[in-house]
Amino acid sequence: MDKAVVDSRPTDSISTNDGLTYTGRRRRPSQSEAEAAVRTLIEWAGDDPDREGLVGTPERVVRAYEEFFAGYNEDLVALLSTTFEETADYDEMIVLRDIRLESHCEHHMVPILGKAHIGYLPAGRVIGISKLARLLDAFAKRLQIQEKLTSQIADTLQEVLKPRGVGVVIEAAHQCMTTRGVHKPGVTMVTSHMLGAFREDPTTRREFLSMIGKPRSASFDA
Ligand SMILES: [Zn+2]
Repeated sequence: MDKAVVDSRPTDSISTNDGLTYTGRRRRPSQSEAEAAVRTLIEWAGDDPDREGLVGTPERVVRAYEEFFAGYNEDLVALLSTTFEETADYDEMIVLRDIRLESHCEHHMVPILGKAHIGYLPAGRVIGISKLARLLDAFAKRLQIQEKLTSQIADTLQEVLKPRGVGVVIEAAHQCMTTRGVHKPGVTMVTSHMLGAFREDPTTRREFLSMIGKPRSASFDA
């Protein structure tokens, strides 16, 4: 299994008795350092971080960041390796569609919101559907670009579960496009990553796209 794909956490992070975590040469900032950074951004926005409504904001933002970016702490190997069920008699396509996607773009650190559809053709074993959703979150709750997120999910599922094929389609709106920059609301970006039978067999790909509600003529190349 390619550890770089499955688990992108640094392998050499250590916690020391000063309460700080060191990641290679990069030290993880303490909570108070992170809160100070939020204070600076509030001042940069033009407001007074000491006024009543904002006093607790740095702490709340830092806690929100722990949620937004919880994917860095998810151990994907543990998440996926113990959850197989042997089902030699079921070999039809399994699709989980319209899974809520919440991520953050790595260029502007603003939300990417949308839906993910994950399908695979089992080869003797299946994985619990809640694990598929957690697999999505493990990669979504990081700083991301949609293309990389799509292929990370597909590649990990292929490597760990070893099915006959995997298809992942993500449709999402990027707030860096809707609330800033070009200001184009209503635009959805669609990405897909197809592996194995989903890539090689047009019938399998069509079946997947029709199960997730896409037009049969839609072209989704990996
Ligand atoms: Zn962006």
